[in-house]
Amino acid sequence: MSLTIFITICYIISSVLFIIGLKRMSSVVSARKANQLSAVGMLIAIVATLLTSGLMEWQWIVFGLAVGTAIGILAAVKVVMTSMPQMVGLLNGSGGLASFIVGWSAYHYQPGASLLTTISTYLAILIGGVTFTGSFVAWAKLEEKFVTGKPILFAGQKIVNSLLLGALVVGGIVFCAHPVDNYPLFAVIMVLSLILGVLVVIPIGGADMPVVISLLNSYSGMAGAATGFVIINSLLIVAGSLVGASGIILTKIMCKAMNRSLANVLFSGFGSVVKKEKTDVKGEAKPISAKDAYYVLEAARSVVFVPGYGMAVAQAQHAVRELGKILENNGAEVRYAIHPVAGRMPGHMNVLLAEADVPYDQLFEMDAINPVIDTIDVAVVIGANDVVNPAARHDKSSPIYGMPIINVDKAKTVFVLKRSMRAGFAGIENELFYFDNTRMLFGDAKESVQALIAEFKSV
Ligand code: NDP
Repeated sequence: MSLTIFITICYIISSVLFIIGLKRMSSVVSARKANQLSAVGMLIAIVATLLTSGLMEWQWIVFGLAVGTAIGILAAVKVVMTSMPQMVGLLNGSGGLASFIVGWSAYHYQPGASLLTTISTYLAILIGGVTFTGSFVAWAKLEEKFVTGKPILFAGQKIVNSLLLGALVVGGIVFCAHPVDNYPLFAVIMVLSLILGVLVVIPIGGADMPVVISLLNSYSGMAGAATGFVIINSLLIVAGSLVGASGIILTKIMCKAMNRSLANVLFSGFGSVVKKEKTDVKGEAKPISAKDAYYVLEAARSVVFVPGYGMAVAQAQHAVRELGKILENNGAEVRYAIHPVAGRMPGHMNVLLAEADVPYDQLFEMDAINPVIDTIDVAVVIGANDVVNPAARHDKSSPIYGMPIINVDKAKTVFVLKRSMRAGFAGIENELFYFDNTRMLFGDAKESVQALIAEFKSV
């Protein structure tokens, strides 16, 4: 078998592993294996690429493999779950930068390439540049480093962005028509692409960043696919297209679950003004002590936990699981209801609960729990706010109107575990806290759950 055929077979195997890996990522049960499968695909791809180079440059590839593996292992061990969107942002940025550099070197060393290569080079520079700086700004906003997490808006912003994009399109057409001896225009395109990445992301609020990161993930895939055309590497085209398509699908799913359009996420400056909209609900929120909450839980026959962003902040998942086991031993049926946008990234709650070894059959999607929620004795809301706000069902003036929620207010009793009456991501008051069947258990979620566990253990 010739080397070329062997490499082609390796690339086909890698592509198949990527596709199966991606498919299996759609279920929490198979996601771990799916990741391993894709990693094997990537290893095969690297080895095949190593062979393509005729082993002439193998030192550099092995060096890159070693450095990349070391950084990957370090990051996987060190990065906490709540920082995962930032981590993914940095990974996308690296992908964008890689495409950007390959595009630049392709033109630098071979300025008179075919039209297809020139167009692909231009796209790799444009999309790669936007992805690189855009991802960096997204990371900075989430970390609140160098830049505020709030949307940065200025007069004429949309016009400036449109002009910049227009200049890049016109510049791109001229460049592709006359690529030879056109380095200055190429350099301008490079710089403008980097600037565009910054300008399109700064008007978006930090809390919307996970959606933007998912979109940038898709861009990094598209840039990779364009780079595949530049260096004529079929696997890069396949892998880039897979990332591009899955990123855009995830972005759409996230927007749908938040009941917002992508345009609204990208251009509305959501979160620039802290909204303190009052609800029509009159009355006082009713606090409850851990001891009194225990008496209710002790008598409950069915309990559903509804986790949200606060559970991630408090890292309360292990304590929640322990309380779940205690309740089960006490004869209650225990379920965990997961809203698709609870937390700050897709699958955030699934990952935390899986980490705490919550059995998959106790995890219920929003659509599965809502029809039976009125049969539940106690719904325990752990650091969730927007995803259980009944205003989404009826208040047309609410920014979350139309967002599907977990209808915890229909359970017989609701305990809300949070530190204060403060709002969540959407910045709005939650009428659930004032309902007759709701009791507020104030405090850090982990400490509150541990206090409940202590009550059970003290008898
Ligand atoms: P929210 O942001 O609505 O509310 C979280 C609540 O957690 C806060 O009200 C806060 O109240 C409480 N909290 C914070 N820290 C603690 C702690 N240590 N202990 C106890 N409570 C704590 O979260 P939800 O999960 O309900 O909703 C997610 C929101 O994020 C939605 O609006 C969604 O659209 C948005 N979003 C989600 C994305 C995703 O992919 N999942 C992506 C982008 C946005 P207090 O300060 O009083 O403790």
